[in-house]
Amino acid sequence: MIAKGCAVVQFLKTLDFAHLIVGRFVKAGDMVIDATAGNGQDSVFLAKLVGEEGRVIAFDIQEKAITATKEYLLQEGLLSRVHLVQDGHENMQNYIKTCVSAVMFNLGYLPGSDQSIITRSDTTLQGVKAALSLLFSGGVLTVVVYTGHPGGQEEWDGLESYLKKLDKKNFRVFLCKYLNLKKSPFLVVVEKF
Ligand code: SAH
Repeated sequence: MIAKGCAVVQFLKTLDFAHLIVGRFVKAGDMVIDATAGNGQDSVFLAKLVGEEGRVIAFDIQEKAITATKEYLLQEGLLSRVHLVQDGHENMQNYIKTCVSAVMFNLGYLPGSDQSIITRSDTTLQGVKAALSLLFSGGVLTVVVYTGHPGGQEEWDGLESYLKKLDKKNFRVFLCKYLNLKKSPFLVVVEKF
């Protein structure tokens, strides 16, 4: 018997929107950056996108995050496509000398971990500036922003005032935000051209 009824529909999360957008900019063979490896969701997504010939460079300051990301990549058979770096994204230019087509940031703290280890205003801003200078024309930067934890609003305030002033000749900055969900994170997309 075939059951009748509505299909189960799942709403897209903020991270899904980030993936949808990045998927439009990245092709097989590209080099890309995961600026906040965390539990490895973006690294796995990016590693699939860039294919066998592409490379992902993933940063995180926490050993726990690097280990979790490594395990997830191993499980998915994607570890050979990703270079894991236990260092801050503010130092990304020490590791990458060529241009990249996408950089993804997911701010805040590692879920299920020490909530005092968070991304911070100064290093996030430095990381975003470094990312924008490493991007190809035609590349994209995404930042998933959380303002609900201590320090989150200040981090966003600093980032927003910098991004608002980016020259529109070279950058377009797009804000993607749920209007009817107060606590949800939101997404910033910067296109470079
Ligand atoms: N809030 C998200 C996950 C963010 S994970 C969620 O709920 O899904 C953010 C990651 O950034 C953490 O693993 C943290 O260790 C890392 N991080 C903090 N500061 C960093 C820095 N300067 N450079 C790179 N990673 C950093």
